[in-house]
Amino acid sequence: MGIKVVLSRPTNRDILEWGIRETVTDACIPIKIFHGHVIDLKDRADYLFVPRMVTVDGQATFCPKFLGLPDMVRFSGEQLPPVIDSSVQANRAGRGVFSFFRDVARQLQIKMGFKGTAAVVRACRKQEAYEQLLLQGLPPQQAMRFLEKKAAGPAVEQAAAAENRSADNLRVALLGYPYVLYDPFISANLYQRLKKMDVEPLTPEQVPPREMLRQSKVLPQNFFWHYSNRASWSSLYYLEQSGRVDGVIHVTAFGCGPDAMVDKFVELESKKREVPFLTLTIDEHTGEGGIQTRLEAFVDMLRAKKEHEGKGRG
Ligand code: SF4
Repeated sequence: MGIKVVLSRPTNRDILEWGIRETVTDACIPIKIFHGHVIDLKDRADYLFVPRMVTVDGQATFCPKFLGLPDMVRFSGEQLPPVIDSSVQANRAGRGVFSFFRDVARQLQIKMGFKGTAAVVRACRKQEAYEQLLLQGLPPQQAMRFLEKKAAGPAVEQAAAAENRSADNLRVALLGYPYVLYDPFISANLYQRLKKMDVEPLTPEQVPPREMLRQSKVLPQNFFWHYSNRASWSSLYYLEQSGRVDGVIHVTAFGCGPDAMVDKFVELESKKREVPFLTLTIDEHTGEGGIQTRLEAFVDMLRAKKEHEGKGRG
């Protein structure tokens, strides 16, 4: 559409500090970091794209902080470029996506026309290919690299998945919100740390959509929030079959209201099935050393348990 997209840099110490300066103390860490990314971009862009994420399945909404994010950014006190805050209100079949993009075009003062419609269709296809790669077990950064190389054919997907798997690895359900799990800075590179320890991290993004749908019917009442549901449904999926995972790690952001419930829920479900459970709470003071020590202790315990069970069977 002739518009250049400028991205903020990967999260770093400066971005975190700027975010802390711009937000109230009790905001959750992802919201603080988001504000830091805004500061990182503000002098390099004519507009800030901060969509108001309402729903993508026509049922659950995103947490209230997502809903208010464009307003929080707009009134943060910094001199900012205009904010494009179109609302994402789509259902599972994608209905609502076109009106979202029409509103984005309106705010950018450009015409959608045939070119715009074709761009939306292409973008949706790219998104599908990206989600497929995540399902195969690629973390987002790696999936993006595959897509950028235009190499996302089935053979490449299988090779990529194989690269990520080894038969003897411990398997751990790594649950949490994607913007925490996959941000190497705030998660202290948790995902890669597990891989280095020969542990296969299984995340909500690796649960097939039909399984998510099935798990969404298990509880008499689901959570109200999109990502909280994804974390709880994937915990049910990974725990439902004995041996599917050796342990569960829930990564929670300090100051997150929904997580107060999700964390307890996942803990109780893990206990019910006698699967070891660990909560890791991430905040602005989280040090790599602390995370590494807790991970090592947890993984050692999982290995000892597996060995013991193996001997018992032998
Ligand atoms: S779900 Fe939790 S971590 Fe995510 S934005 Fe809301 S309060 Fe913050």
